[in-house]
Amino acid sequence: MPSSAAKRVGVIGAGMVGVCAASYLQRAGHSVFIIEAGEPGHGASFGNAGALNASSVTPMSMPGVMWNVPRWLLDPMGPLSLRWSYLPTIAPWLARFIRAGTLEKVHAQARALRPLVGATLEALLPLVRDAGAEDLVHRLGHLYVYRSLQSLEKDRLAWELRRENGVEIDQFDADQLRQLEPTLSRDYVRGVLVRENGHTSNPLALVQRLLEYFLRWGGEITRARALGFQLDGGRLTAIRTDRGDIAANAAVVCAGAWSKPLAGSLGERIPLETERGYHLMIRNPEVMPRIPTADADGKFVATPMDTGLRFAGNVELAGLDAPPDWRRAHILLEQGRRMLPGLAAHYPDDRISVWMGHRPSLPDSLPVLGPSSAVPSVIYAFGHGHVGMTSAPMTGKVVADLITGRPPSIDIAPFSPKRFA
Ligand SMILES: Cc1cc2nc3c(=O)[nH]c(=O)nc-3n(C[C@H](O)[C@H](O)[C@H](O)COP(=O)(O)OP(=O)(O)OC[C@H]3O[C@@H](n4cnc5c(N)ncnc54)[C@H](O)[C@@H]3O)c2cc1C
Repeated sequence: MPSSAAKRVGVIGAGMVGVCAASYLQRAGHSVFIIEAGEPGHGASFGNAGALNASSVTPMSMPGVMWNVPRWLLDPMGPLSLRWSYLPTIAPWLARFIRAGTLEKVHAQARALRPLVGATLEALLPLVRDAGAEDLVHRLGHLYVYRSLQSLEKDRLAWELRRENGVEIDQFDADQLRQLEPTLSRDYVRGVLVRENGHTSNPLALVQRLLEYFLRWGGEITRARALGFQLDGGRLTAIRTDRGDIAANAAVVCAGAWSKPLAGSLGERIPLETERGYHLMIRNPEVMPRIPTADADGKFVATPMDTGLRFAGNVELAGLDAPPDWRRAHILLEQGRRMLPGLAAHYPDDRISVWMGHRPSLPDSLPVLGPSSAVPSVIYAFGHGHVGMTSAPMTGKVVADLITGRPPSIDIAPFSPKRFA
């Protein structure tokens, strides 16, 4: 119920983070409008792997990661690619990325992430129930599969980080794996199942359903590009857009990979980059794993979606503007065939679709979540990198707490925008 403390809040960006923030703000009694420059849900939240992994506490920059980089870059099937012309632009971010990967720091990052990702389903389910979207969210676990004991050993630290943060696992040998997931190649010798993890079988539909519910209960959406903020004596009075100013006394920046200039307009320099990723989908596949399954060596995920089988992954460092390199998506099909040998050798174009999207990434694999130092009624909620679908529900809750003036239920100090100053 709106109260005297209710605020007029503008949420910038209608991705998963934006709709979760708007939904929780609406529940807290605020009058909320979303500003969206494109189509709601068509940013990174459109084509991801759909994993809602409570166990996703492992940062991208891990000790020794830089020794893998040359091998990954030289391998055309590898999980990482770089447009060399973009190297000078991204070099400072890469330097921070490498510095973030010390043993001490990755333990701290994992500890910080667990409360954000760990309660993903608990924070999402109330929204999903209200929106009638239960059919899109599943808790069936997430399976990681390995082709050799050596590659499992290489992931030792990642599993240690998960275990020390309370993640429980079940391990399967080759025979057990075959029984668990008969569609998988017999080349896999180990599987690790995290039962607490969930997934959405249609990320776009999930964002759309949450948005529909938000609109039904009086939320508004304005199709415009936010440009910055109107201030009066340091106090927010409006959000500036390409369609004019919109009055607001609080704002949330959840514009994903495009958030940097909005923080910049308040004089804050946040090293946000995009890690571009791809997906390839097969309509009516011959075989499909029962639950999302990650190939630990190839670093891609096969997810059973309502609309087909989705292979998603890949990190391409090339900025926001370079055109997609669709070879990266087609590599996923080759890798997917090696994972699921029951797939056909050839597909007509009308059974395949490809997509490229922009993960919003900070070098230490933690989002920026907290008030702007310049204008505290502007809340930053962006940079969720590889785990934005998973961390969006809890992020939304935290945003609503901050704007309502309640202490957040999790420690957000590690996500401070000031940590890069
Ligand atoms: C291949 C791939 C696989 C992934 N798999 C997973 C996964 O399995 N699980 C997981 O948790 N995460 C996954 N991710 C990451 C996840 O998709 C992102 O972290 C998440 O979608 C980010 O959500 P967001 O709302 O911050 O950004 P977005 O979904 O990108 O939304 C931002 C929105 O802001 C709008 N916008 C931008 N600028 C402005 C402006 N100035 N004014 C108004 N609107 C603006 C955009 O149009 C867009 O709609 C994956 C990502 C990729 C690329």
